[in-house]
Amino acid sequence: MRASLDTQTNQVTYLLPVGDEELPLNDFIGKSLTLTHTGNINCSSCGKKTKKSFSQGHCFPCMRKLASCDMCIMKPETCHHAEGTCREPQWGEENCMIPHYVYLANTSGLKVGITRHTQIPTRWIDQGATQAIPLFKVKTRLQSGLVEIALAEFIADKTNWRAMLKGENPELDLKQKALELVPQISERLDEIRLKFGEDSVELLDQELVTIDYPVTQYPTKIASHNFDKNVEVNGVLLGIKGQYLIFDTGVINVRKFTSYEIEVSY
Ligand SMILES: [Zn+2]
Repeated sequence: MRASLDTQTNQVTYLLPVGDEELPLNDFIGKSLTLTHTGNINCSSCGKKTKKSFSQGHCFPCMRKLASCDMCIMKPETCHHAEGTCREPQWGEENCMIPHYVYLANTSGLKVGITRHTQIPTRWIDQGATQAIPLFKVKTRLQSGLVEIALAEFIADKTNWRAMLKGENPELDLKQKALELVPQISERLDEIRLKFGEDSVELLDQELVTIDYPVTQYPTKIASHNFDKNVEVNGVLLGIKGQYLIFDTGVINVRKFTSYEIEVSY
């Protein structure tokens, strides 16, 4: 799904690519919608047919070959570009050896995360954050990972997706949380600056971003649809949050089924 945030209203608009078209999903909320998986999965990188999807939409060879599918993407503090062992050094130059942001967000509660500049606010929407604030700017993915694990000693670095979908997270004063957290990691920041340069980590003073999702009714109990078990997903669309479609019959993580060919009827 492609999502965009209206910075005036804080509303998220979702588009679902189906074939050559993009379905304006917000218009379907409150209506009956059927998604049917045709059985075809085409690798999002090489386009070849694959029986199973690896790393959210790749064939097995691409999953093994691409730097974007390496473990260090999930664990940025293990970025090994500087050691000369990146699977695709040029991709690493363009995607990892560039400025990153460490942010605080409110997803299923307070969490820390990292992202590239170009992925703000997409990354936050993907995670279903209702509030977010950039906290630090650093020079590389590795540095962002080191700051993140320092903060993760005090707050979560993962989202409880079920809690996120229930929409029960109370509003947080993220600016206040930042003021409390930063002094707690001052020694770790000193270590990072000593290693990577005094200007490697920059503390930011930015405004809080609020994000409103098109949801008319949050589920109280969560059942998941899965195209691998049942090719048809059908129900009344109650809302969209993060990468999830919320139907009256259950939820589906659309990101998980990237590269699955689907047909839509309504
Ligand atoms: Zn492939």
